[in-house]
Amino acid sequence: MRFYLDSFQNLVEALTRLPAIGKKSAKNIAFELVMRDRAAALKLAHAIESAVSVARVCVCCGALSENELCGVCADEERDRSKICVVLSAKDIFTLEESGLWNGLYFVYESEENFVKLENMIKDRRAQEVIFAFAPSVQNDALIYLIEERLSPYGLIFSKIAHGVPTGVSLENVDMISLARALEGRVKI
Ligand SMILES: [Zn+2]
Repeated sequence: MRFYLDSFQNLVEALTRLPAIGKKSAKNIAFELVMRDRAAALKLAHAIESAVSVARVCVCCGALSENELCGVCADEERDRSKICVVLSAKDIFTLEESGLWNGLYFVYESEENFVKLENMIKDRRAQEVIFAFAPSVQNDALIYLIEERLSPYGLIFSKIAHGVPTGVSLENVDMISLARALEGRVKI
């Protein structure tokens, strides 16, 4: 479809590349931004620019950060003896929103992260590792593997259990279920 509007077309295409936004929604959003609420649109553009320019990965845990260390790793009030391992940095938002976790996090995206996790456990003298992975056969196998490799450290291992449906990612789990899952975590 041709709009005879190059910049508008670029905006629509950029929006289409975002997750969960189809062509029709992209056109509607673009129209809303450029025609109906120009002040909000410029504010959005500025917010995107500043968020992107400062965003980085925490050197310790792999969370989204705006400094070398993320807010959680830098917070002296957090319980450094407990590390909650997640599969995606986005899961930290869900867990922080629940307000139920006062320990640290570690983002385990791939096997390459293992040494980093091991170093974090040693540096922070961690005593407990909880796996906040959505239940699935694949994730259980990964938990087993990590646990095996960390066995020399004498850690207490647990995983979230009740209330989180199999195969559903953490961001799609409601807060009540997540709270139950965290409170009812089981020793492994
Ligand atoms: Zn961190």
